[in-house]
Amino acid sequence: MLSTPLRFASLPLPPPPPPPPMRRFHQKPPSYGPKSALFFPVVFLPPRSCPGQGSRRGRGGPARALDAAQSFDYESRALEDLENRSRLKIAIVGFGNFGQFLARTFATQGHALLAHSRSDHSAAARSVGADFYRDPHDLCEQHPDVVVLCTSILSSEAVLRSLPFQRLRRSTLFVDVLSVKEFPKNLFLNILPPDFDILCTHPMFGPESGKDGWAGLPFVYDKVRVSDTEERVDRCRRFLNIFAREGCRMVEMSCAEHDENSAESQFLTHTVGRILSKLELKSTPINTKGYETLLQLVENTCSDSFDLYNGLFMYNYNSTELLERLDIAFDSVKKELFGRLHDILRKQLFESPGNSNNIKPVDKDS
Ligand code: NAP
Repeated sequence: MLSTPLRFASLPLPPPPPPPPMRRFHQKPPSYGPKSALFFPVVFLPPRSCPGQGSRRGRGGPARALDAAQSFDYESRALEDLENRSRLKIAIVGFGNFGQFLARTFATQGHALLAHSRSDHSAAARSVGADFYRDPHDLCEQHPDVVVLCTSILSSEAVLRSLPFQRLRRSTLFVDVLSVKEFPKNLFLNILPPDFDILCTHPMFGPESGKDGWAGLPFVYDKVRVSDTEERVDRCRRFLNIFAREGCRMVEMSCAEHDENSAESQFLTHTVGRILSKLELKSTPINTKGYETLLQLVENTCSDSFDLYNGLFMYNYNSTELLERLDIAFDSVKKELFGRLHDILRKQLFESPGNSNNIKPVDKDS
C-alpha cells in the first residue's frame, strides 16, 4: 500500500485560480473583515490561505505547494503592512453632531481616533472606539497624523487658538470641515505654524442627508498647503481616500469658488427650510410630492444647529447679497399676484355693465 505522501504526490493539482481583476482607483476593496476595511488603490490581494491546506498539498508537489504557502503568508503580511500604512491617527476637535457622524465612518475604515471637545463626549467617543481627551494638551501629545477641526464656524477661531501646536509634530496635517471655506482657510494660514499642512474640505452632507451612506454625495476640497514630500502627499491622499472609498463625488475646488457656489446652493436651501419651519407645516392625508419635499427640507435643515446656519450667513460674503435677492424675488412674486388681482377688481368695479355700484373712473385731466 502506498504511503500517504506518495498518494498525494500522484494526485493532479487543481489548476491555479484565475488572476483577480485589476481594481480601478476609487473602487471599494473586497471586505476582509473590519481590520481590512482600509482602501488600497492597487490590486485585489488573494484571500488568506486555509490552515493546513498548504502543508497537505505540499506533500504532493513540493516546489509548487511550498511556494503557494509562502506566497499566502507573504501576502497576508503584505496586506497587514498595507493596512498599517493606510491607517491614520486622526484627532477630531469638536466632537458634536457632525464630529461624531464623521467618526463613525473613520472608525469603520479602521483609523485610530482621538477626540476633544468643549463638552464631555467621552461616552460617544467610547462607542466608536475613540479616545476622548478633555485637555487639548493631552490630545496633542498623542501626535495625531491629522487634526480635523469640526467645531461650529463661530467658535472655530477660539478653539484653534486654544490648541498647543508646540506639542504636535511639526508636519501635522490640519483639515477643516466647516461649511464655509474662505474663512477657515485664512484662519489656518494666519494661525498655524508654517510647517503644518493645510487641507480645507466640506463634506456637503450631514447626519440627515448622509444617514444611508455617502455614495454620490459631494465632497469639496482644496489642498491649500501640502508639502511636496512623498510622505505628506501620501498622507493627504489617504485622508481624501476615506471619502472617496465611501463613494463621495470628489470635487477639487478653490475655497473662494466654493463660497460663491454654496451661497446659492446651501445658504438658500437652509434659509428656505428655516422660513418654512416658521409656518409649522403639518403632514396631511393628501400630501403631494412637492409638499413632501418641503416637509423633508424643513427636517433636513432644521435638524442642524442654529449656530451652523448663522455661521453660513456670518462667514460667507455672498450670503448677504443672496438674502437681499431672495427678498426682492419674494416681493416681485407678490407684486405679480396682487397686480393681477387688482386688475380683476378694477374691471369689476368700473367696467361690469350690470353692476349697480358702477363708478366712472375719475378723469385726471377733468
Ligand atoms: P455646530 O453647531 O456647527 O457645531 C457644534 C460643535 O462646535 C460641537 O462640537 C461644539 O462642542 C462646538 N462648539 C460650539 N460652540 C463652541 C464654543 N464656544 N467653544 C468650543 N466649542 C464649541 O454643529 P455641527 O453640525 O456639529 O457642525 C460642526 C462643524 O461641521 C461646523 O463647522 C459645520 O459647518 C460643519 N459641517 C456640518 C455639517 C452638518 O450637516 N451638520 C455638514 C458639513 C459640515 P461641544 O459639543 O463640545 O459643546
